[in-house]
Amino acid sequence: MRGISREVLARDAAWSLADGSCKDLTVEWARWEATYAASLTPAARQAALMEPSALCADCPIAVECADLAGLSGYTGIAAAHGYRNGRLDGARARTTKQRRTA
Ligand code: SF4
Repeated sequence: MRGISREVLARDAAWSLADGSCKDLTVEWARWEATYAASLTPAARQAALMEPSALCADCPIAVECADLAGLSGYTGIAAAHGYRNGRLDGARARTTKQRRTA
């Protein structure tokens, strides 16, 4: 099996993000992430994910986005889930479509 570094995988995933459904929603995304981060209960965090999750549900690169969140140690909202240091925040299961574009 050919070895592929995390950096190469992350770079490839990052290129895909230009095709994401959220690409023009920088301000809204920042607001959603701030709301998520400030949510103190699981119910509040789930509510904070509702609007971004609706976008992610139809996003053509949701799998690549989740990969990048993990590879890059992302903290915030990606692929309809909250992430903390690249790990899913809590034990919620993935609900976005599990498909790759490349
Ligand atoms: S899955 Fe969600 S967070 Fe990721 S690029 Fe698509 S819309 Fe953006």
